[in-house]
Amino acid sequence: MAEVKNKGRTPLMRQYYKIKARHPQAILLFRMGDFYETFDEDAKRISKLLGITLTKRANGKAHDVPLAGFPHHALDNYLPKLVESGHRVAICEQLEDAQDAKTIVKRDVVEVVTPGVSFHDHLLDPKQSNYLAAVRWDGDEIGFAFVDVSTGEFLTAEVGAEELGDLLQTIYPAEVLVDKKERDRLPRGRFTVTTLEDWVFGFDFANETLLQHFETHSLKGFGIEGMRLGIIAAGAALHYLGDTQKGRLPHVRTIKRYESDDYMALDPQTKRNLELITTLREDGREGTLVDIMDETKTAMGGRRLRRWLVRPLRDVAAIERRLDAVEALYRSRTLRDTLRDELDHVGDLERLAARAATGRATPRDVTAVKLTLRQIPSIKQHLADETCEELARVAERLTLCTDLIDRIDRALVDEPPANIGDGGLIRDGYSEELDELRDVARSGKDWLATMQKEEAERTGISSLKVGFNKVFGYYLEVTNTHKDKVPDDYIRKQTLVNAERYITPELKEYEEKILTAEDKIDSLEAELFNQLRTTVAEHTEVLQRNAELLSVLDCYGALAEVAVRYGYARPEVHDKRTLEIEDGRHPVVERTLPAGEPFIPNSTYLDPDAEQIIIITGPNMAGKSVVLRQTGLIVLLAQVGSFVPAKAARIGVVDRIFTRVGASDNLAAGESTFLVEMNEAANILNNATPRSLILLDEVGRGTSTFDGLSIAWALVEYLHERPDVAARTLFATHYHELNELADRFERVRNARIQVEEHEGRIIFLRKLVPGGADHSFGIEVARMAGLPEPVIARAREILRSLESQHLAVEHLREGSGDGESAAGDGVRAARPVPSAVPDADTERFQMSLFEAQPDPVAEALKERLRALDPDRMTPIEALLQLSELRRLLE
Ligand code: ATP
Repeated sequence: MAEVKNKGRTPLMRQYYKIKARHPQAILLFRMGDFYETFDEDAKRISKLLGITLTKRANGKAHDVPLAGFPHHALDNYLPKLVESGHRVAICEQLEDAQDAKTIVKRDVVEVVTPGVSFHDHLLDPKQSNYLAAVRWDGDEIGFAFVDVSTGEFLTAEVGAEELGDLLQTIYPAEVLVDKKERDRLPRGRFTVTTLEDWVFGFDFANETLLQHFETHSLKGFGIEGMRLGIIAAGAALHYLGDTQKGRLPHVRTIKRYESDDYMALDPQTKRNLELITTLREDGREGTLVDIMDETKTAMGGRRLRRWLVRPLRDVAAIERRLDAVEALYRSRTLRDTLRDELDHVGDLERLAARAATGRATPRDVTAVKLTLRQIPSIKQHLADETCEELARVAERLTLCTDLIDRIDRALVDEPPANIGDGGLIRDGYSEELDELRDVARSGKDWLATMQKEEAERTGISSLKVGFNKVFGYYLEVTNTHKDKVPDDYIRKQTLVNAERYITPELKEYEEKILTAEDKIDSLEAELFNQLRTTVAEHTEVLQRNAELLSVLDCYGALAEVAVRYGYARPEVHDKRTLEIEDGRHPVVERTLPAGEPFIPNSTYLDPDAEQIIIITGPNMAGKSVVLRQTGLIVLLAQVGSFVPAKAARIGVVDRIFTRVGASDNLAAGESTFLVEMNEAANILNNATPRSLILLDEVGRGTSTFDGLSIAWALVEYLHERPDVAARTLFATHYHELNELADRFERVRNARIQVEEHEGRIIFLRKLVPGGADHSFGIEVARMAGLPEPVIARAREILRSLESQHLAVEHLREGSGDGESAAGDGVRAARPVPSAVPDADTERFQMSLFEAQPDPVAEALKERLRALDPDRMTPIEALLQLSELRRLLE
């Protein structure tokens, strides 16, 4: 079959198709001289993606083939574009010098770059890990492995299948591998999905792949023996890596077990709602928790801090260890500043080590390794005296690597060129052979200068010049004016418009010497550099350990710096279930308020045995969401091991933070606002434990008032009455009717964000105080937004009417013996109280709403108003709606 296809093709194209057949799913960049070329469908694809011209290449007697290519030096520019658009790219190089090739140049794929597998600086975000993940299902269980080939980090986990979404959101893989038969089980996400054949996911194959790679007899030493699914996923990931990297993975030295139980669980919407990594609105980084906490000095520290922030700890002792280190640096300015100054000179050792191990390090990378290692002695020294056990432990484990520093220092010049081929990277005095060759090259050049001088004198041609070109080598150039003075022993080689070029046997002899020396210098420098790189590679393990320790120190330093700069306090973390925050602040909002607007701190107290659920009411814009989110963020930061924006905090470890915030459609997935809201609520009720923290910002707004109110009410009841989900809960709501719950359930409390009404206007005080709000302020806010006075006045009238209607229902209810909910304080008398069990009264009440307003204009107006959602309107829409309302009135 292949032969038939190859008929008439040129030998080069045959070679191309042979290699392409091995990489059908990748775009094949085929090196031809100074260009990377692509053919056929690949050519069409890249010409579109990169905006480069599509041409044709003749192919012997076969049809012409579409062709598109770019110069090899543009790879750094184009590769990211191809990979970021989700493509896999196979890079095929020439494996021999075109001059040495007898027939066609030997070529092969040297690496396959994919979104999840890359070493290229241009493709990697320095502050972000780049994970490749693999998933294997078995009923309700999954194996989930992830590996960052740019650093060598490799972990595997076994969890319930329902945790997959959380894991994907915690790990943020760039690419996920699945068995092609299981493709549809993978939820959608921002990663490239790569399907593999099912045999890759066989246990024996996976186990063998891991054993062979780590060169061990069992996986016991890694603590993953017996994790059948975890091993399958890890084996599949390693197999895929091996395939793309052509087996070069010496820096993937170990695999660890990822225990999701060690970490606080944060589901995807909670991470989004708390804006840990991306903001809710623009999906940006600015204004996220990572953004304001990241004072790290190194890229690897930045990546670690990010991991810490999305994986807070649950073990009190582990949290305390981090807090101790942060505190030591917080207390001593000298210690903190010195450490951070030293870290300024530390490179991305984690990725440098990986590049050295895989033979990818450039001369500058190796110098960066040296400069980084040079910081270690002083860091070790001044941390070693520390009374803080954690800092002393880290200092103790840092390894000096004096021999390696010395070796690099002797071998490489201080500022080596970017690439090996640029030459001049090895220091004089490092290799005798190299020094001799350099002498020859240098003296040869001196000899040429002398020769030029002497020949000019001998021939009387003052303008005689020694020159060099690639075709003729060294030559003597004589301008036509002096042609007649040329001596007989000159041999003419080239005629130019106004000059002639000659050679002499003596000149050729020297040329040979110089050129051979220069060639030898190049190859010797390359060889010496390779040896040096191998020496660095032999240190992979200690370099990786140093990288880990330095990045941990970087995180401690950053957390201490933030704590000092913004006045954070050390939290107390304990195993009880209470949660006390004294004068807490929102870490992001406090920094982004306009100048002159102070942030008002608020205290929160939650205790599952006494004050389990707090209903927070207050008008729009009062600051309810801020209180909720700051509580979540303070708990999270405390469990990360960070100081917190509060005067004091005592935090009973939380196993999981749940949030249900705002309303957003997920129309792409066919879900309406209300459905999204209910899905989130269901997730909370099904998964919360008595150790969780639940933050609810409005529930039930996506449906009619009475439906919404009833759902919200029932939800609070459930959280209160069911011991297995009795989580600490903050519930912000506009339904001031929910305040009634506090009277009915012993562990429900009311709080409100204080506002003052002054001459009909609202003044926001932002203070959380006990007790519920007595009404919603919706009409006042509408007035502040600029709704015309007649609409406001009419709305007030309607409200009064509705409330009086409702009072009648209240009386009815009391009359029918359901006196429990009777308002006690007069202010609350005007509230509709939904019963947990709907009864005939409610129905009657809803009916009566319509009976109360026979005026058709008012009816229409009411209907329109009800349909409006000011939260989701643009100013223009609001204006248009207003004139429409106005028109109706008139
Ligand atoms: P809505 O019910 O409309 O969602 P809300 O009560 O949840 O409103 P927030 O979104 O929490 O209101 O707060 C509105 C704005 O008020 C914030 O964006 C912030 O600028 C400011 N704010 C909130 N809390 C404080 C505070 N404690 N100190 C200073 N400013 C605050």
